[in-house]
Amino acid sequence: MGARGGLGFPAEELEDVEVQTSDELMGVPDEYQRLWTPHRMTYITDGQDPHEDVCPFCRGPERPDEEVLIVARGEHAFVVMNLYPYNNGHLLVCPYRHIAMYDEATNDEILEIGRLTQTAMRVMREQSHVQGFNLGMNQGRIAGAGIAGHLHQHIVPRWPLDANFFPIIAKTKAFPVLLGDLRNHLAAAWPK
Ligand SMILES: [Zn+2]
Repeated sequence: MGARGGLGFPAEELEDVEVQTSDELMGVPDEYQRLWTPHRMTYITDGQDPHEDVCPFCRGPERPDEEVLIVARGEHAFVVMNLYPYNNGHLLVCPYRHIAMYDEATNDEILEIGRLTQTAMRVMREQSHVQGFNLGMNQGRIAGAGIAGHLHQHIVPRWPLDANFFPIIAKTKAFPVLLGDLRNHLAAAWPK
């Protein structure tokens, strides 16, 4: 997909912009549009169909971390930026195995998903003065799972006043930090 294809910016401002299609990345789509407040966009948000046969959480880890916004990898599970964040720093923790339900996970997977979640909370608390988190898993499409076939735990950091008026009036969320920049920051702060 070309860098000048419908981003709404003058072509000369897009010459150095890396454009990546969303179907190469991992995320859980919802009804919101994202307003990426920095002018420089690293990708455009369309093209991902949650019903497509190829699972993004299976395909993503085959590629380099920076390309697919993986923050950290464990032996059984990994941490990735959600392409469709509810808030800055919205992470997903997924097992590598394509399992849908939490009760299909092995002890090793449960333990590592839990430990990666704890580490993510500590890193974000240290780096971004996060004051709270929403943690959770939607199990099955009827329960709201966007990618129902592959287990994923949401980690949504919360700050005071983070629920701005955008979602209410326009189903749009504003994000002051680009996903790639935030991934680099969290990955660098992640304990080795
Ligand atoms: Zn999968």
